[in-house]
Amino acid sequence: MSIGTPLGAEPVVALHEPVERAVRPKAVRQTPSEARAAYNLVTRRDEETCVRCRRGGAVQRDHRQNRLPGNTVPSNLQLLCPPCHLWKTENPEQALQEGWAVPRHTMFTPAEWPARRWVKTLHGTYREAWVLYFDEPEHGRMWLEIPDIDAHYRRRQAGIL
Ligand SMILES: [Zn+2]
Repeated sequence: MSIGTPLGAEPVVALHEPVERAVRPKAVRQTPSEARAAYNLVTRRDEETCVRCRRGGAVQRDHRQNRLPGNTVPSNLQLLCPPCHLWKTENPEQALQEGWAVPRHTMFTPAEWPARRWVKTLHGTYREAWVLYFDEPEHGRMWLEIPDIDAHYRRRQAGIL
């Protein structure tokens, strides 16, 4: 506080600040370190393998919904191998239907939009499943598996199926 600031002025500012913050719409801003943290989380989540074909090696980080300011979050990211990434780019309709992409204009956020991926079974084998991705680990998990009917319903609602 600079010398000469009326003592009474400060609490008023402090009282008003949180109210203003609550009313103002949340700005979509993301620092480079937040984006980096999201990429790191997804690299671990997907075990450095393609979510579509489980190929390892030179995987690429893909935005499920085309990259927009603020959408570099775990629920919107997945690892794809170069052939699957190319396939997704060349088959946008099919990629949407099969869960590899999130529609650009929809009421669903990437976290609410069903994603297709492999999951590990108790026997250590893999199977394909529909999931909803989390942005933050919940009880050590990064996704919730959902029934086919739920994934179907959400895609139907968005007019994708
Ligand atoms: Zn692949």
